[in-house]
Amino acid sequence: MLTTRRNAAKILAAGALASSVAVPAARAASGTGSATFDVAVIGAGAFGVWTAHAFRQMGQRVCLIDEYGAAHSRASSGGESRIIRTAYGKQAIYSRWAMESLVEWKALEARNATLLFEPTGVLAIAPTSDSFLNDTVKALVALGVPHDLLDAADVARRFPAFHLGQNEGAVFEPRSGALLARHAIQTLVAELVASGMDYRTAAVRTPTGSGALPAIVTQNGETISAGRYVFACGPWLPKVFPEVIGARVEPQRAEVFFLGIPAGSAAFDPAVMPTWMDQYGVAGAYGFPDLEARGCKVAVDPAPILVDPDTQSRLVTQPFIDLMREFVAFRFPALARAPIVETRVCQYEMARDEEYILDRHPAFDNVWIAGGGSGHGFKNGPRVGRYMAQVITGAVTPDPRFTVSR
Ligand SMILES: Cc1cc2nc3c(=O)[nH]c(=O)nc-3n(C[C@H](O)[C@H](O)[C@H](O)COP(=O)(O)OP(=O)(O)OC[C@H]3O[C@@H](n4cnc5c(N)ncnc54)[C@H](O)[C@@H]3O)c2cc1C
Repeated sequence: MLTTRRNAAKILAAGALASSVAVPAARAASGTGSATFDVAVIGAGAFGVWTAHAFRQMGQRVCLIDEYGAAHSRASSGGESRIIRTAYGKQAIYSRWAMESLVEWKALEARNATLLFEPTGVLAIAPTSDSFLNDTVKALVALGVPHDLLDAADVARRFPAFHLGQNEGAVFEPRSGALLARHAIQTLVAELVASGMDYRTAAVRTPTGSGALPAIVTQNGETISAGRYVFACGPWLPKVFPEVIGARVEPQRAEVFFLGIPAGSAAFDPAVMPTWMDQYGVAGAYGFPDLEARGCKVAVDPAPILVDPDTQSRLVTQPFIDLMREFVAFRFPALARAPIVETRVCQYEMARDEEYILDRHPAFDNVWIAGGGSGHGFKNGPRVGRYMAQVITGAVTPDPRFTVSR
């Protein structure tokens, strides 16, 4: 199977294969000279690229810089898929941002005639004793988001791949789904480069001093000067700003597994099986149907393991495999003995309270920080980018929930 049935329909409708969008070539740092821009964005992940986009929409001259490339294999935005959902319990701001962001992701998809969003629906599973389900329903009603509150029997009828215990329930959002993560980020970068944005491969050094920062300097000694600087360095933020961010953002190891579906089965096709998240499962888990025929993606998060995003091993480990197997045997009985067909090791960039950090650097007038995606930042990249551009230009007042010192 080259692609899922739903993918095939969308690709045919769009008239383009997802893989046909070229990864944009970044200009290599020259090691000499200097350049001047309105805004320099450091970090080409979901937060940085959408921030660059928002400033380009304002007509600004933007330079986007990344030390490894857009949505590379070590970045938190690297990887095949990310969930976009509006189910957020009591955190209504993220529900709203997710709705607004989905409009932007779909617009990006339409502009580029490529597949970036699979409308699989999202099933959020939680114990019925927990307030998450009712809080989510209240938020979705207030926002006018279509949804169904399901008990275990409803889920068994509608989504037979899942097994829920009698004390569990779920909220299903039919309009949410899966973003093709790496491809979406690289598509946006290609679009920005085509529109005249400067895009470079360079490792930017930590700025020193205070007040108005005149320029940033790369490891090669190149100088890039801009009116404003946005450091969207994801799990690298503690390294870039050890004093300001330090332990406020913890890079935590994530191991992701793709389980091979049974031969000839359509039960795990994105047209049949929703993307899902287990708010309070064995250890907190989420996953996807058989997107891109890679197998069903499953991640189960154990107690946090702190890592270095540059050097951590990208090979999966037995404790994660055991936890995943235990969870899958309960939740997806038909996959209990499924072979692991692909794996990926990544890291979340966790803020303690899981709120994003979108704020000015306390020592500089013109340096800003965007990070702390906390395992749920990808979907909201478009809204984060717009927020950054608006706050930095003074168009909106900063929200205290996103400050470094909260
Ligand atoms: C396994 C996993 C699953 C997830 N699932 C979901 C999900 O389903 N839904 C969701 O919404 N979110 C999810 N998230 C969270 C989401 O992916 C992240 O919050 C988001 O991608 C973070 O984007 P970012 O731009 O902040 O960081 P990154 O994508 O890590 O980008 C930071 C960039 O900065 C660059 N950089 C760092 N330092 C420098 C420097 N000195 N000079 C130049 N460049 C530098 C890096 O190379 C990197 O490319 C998940 C995360 C992981 C790891």
